[in-house]
Amino acid sequence: MQFSRRFVSVAAAAALALGLVACGGGSAPAAEGGSEETAKVYKIATDTTFAPFEYADTDGTYVGIDVELLAAIAADQGFEYELEPLGFDAALQAVQSGQSDGVIAGMSIIDARREVFDFSEPYYDSTVCAAAADASIKSLDDLKGKTVAVKTGTMSEAWAESLKDQYGFTTVQFDTSDVMYQDVIAGNTAACFEDTPVMSYAISTGNVALTIVAEAASDSEYATPYGFAVNKGDNAELLAAFDAGLANIKANGTYDKIVGTYVQSVG
Ligand code: GLN
Repeated sequence: MQFSRRFVSVAAAAALALGLVACGGGSAPAAEGGSEETAKVYKIATDTTFAPFEYADTDGTYVGIDVELLAAIAADQGFEYELEPLGFDAALQAVQSGQSDGVIAGMSIIDARREVFDFSEPYYDSTVCAAAADASIKSLDDLKGKTVAVKTGTMSEAWAESLKDQYGFTTVQFDTSDVMYQDVIAGNTAACFEDTPVMSYAISTGNVALTIVAEAASDSEYATPYGFAVNKGDNAELLAAFDAGLANIKANGTYDKIVGTYVQSVG
């Protein structure tokens, strides 16, 4: 993939910026042409536009909580990777088909997904919401007879699907969050369904004129945390390294520092 190499250096730069590059290079690749085993470069798939977790900044560099956590964990554990911003649904499929080794994409830990993925320890709490642009949409009741926007393969889509008969709306699918928001702002759809931390962040930037009108109950099956995932039964060592690194960066303050860069109140 054309951009892969660049993301390795982006990750390295992010790790450098955090002052986390480990000395010693215990897992450095074997010398060229040597018969020694070459260090594995994991392919880690992610979403394209899911701020504050992963998004391209103005010069096209991928940044965000997931991007920086992964860089810090890789530096802590001494593994190499290439970040592949494929889009959410595509990222999950890439892992399932073995094209990518893991996925970090604000991916909710859902029991149904445990049948096909192995998850890390949870690293960020989340829930789902509905947001509208038109002031006449104040609650789910106002969606009767309307079409709402959902993002393919997401938990917020599942929440919308679970509500649509009760509230009498229909759904239309989008692949990316930014295009979905614009569809609501343009007035084509009455509301969109999204993860609350992501919707709140988008609204807080001032560039997305939407208002949250409903949120899943905090004790519902839709209020589940994010985890890093690998294909079930594969890349157990990568998953173990992620968990070990996550524990270390939580203990040494790096986790709080990264999250605090993007959101004001941690946790
Ligand atoms: N947290 C949601 C899910 O796992 C959405 C993730 C995303 O859109 N990147 O389904």
